[in-house]
Amino acid sequence: MGQANLKLTLSCPGSLIIKVDPQRLRQVLVNLIHNAYKFTDEGRVDFGFLPFDADATFVTFYCSDTGCGISPEQGNRIFERFISYDTSGAKVHSGTGLGLAISKNLIELMGGKIWFESQEKKGTTFFFNLPLSL
Ligand code: ADP
Repeated sequence: MGQANLKLTLSCPGSLIIKVDPQRLRQVLVNLIHNAYKFTDEGRVDFGFLPFDADATFVTFYCSDTGCGISPEQGNRIFERFISYDTSGAKVHSGTGLGLAISKNLIELMGGKIWFESQEKKGTTFFFNLPLSL
């Protein structure tokens, strides 16, 4: 992590109360931010959560990058265990192919869902939502 030509921003529009295991949440955030850095050679990585209404029951977090993106074929399988693609940019990628499978599992255990949107060579945004506490 820590590419000199990458800008990292955090966006928290207001305060947020969720009752989750902080270790699980941290592991998901670390996985997503680590991947965003790993697959982005220049530009930015932004993460945070989206604004929500007073009557909302879920909060949506995101981690967005301007990296290599994910092809539709790869996208079909990235949440499976041991699926790891070398998208062969300037950086050498190495991974276990477990990060997203573990993240999906943890988020579902916390009552949420994970998904992504991506455009090849433009970037990727991972989203996940979690129930808000009353
Ligand atoms: P690993 O990073 O160890 O390969 P993951 O389960 O975290 O395993 O990710 C699986 C695959 O999903 C990666 O190998 C990569 O092809 C793709 N991927 C994940 N995050 C990104 C991202 N931000 N940009 C592009 N591809 C990604």
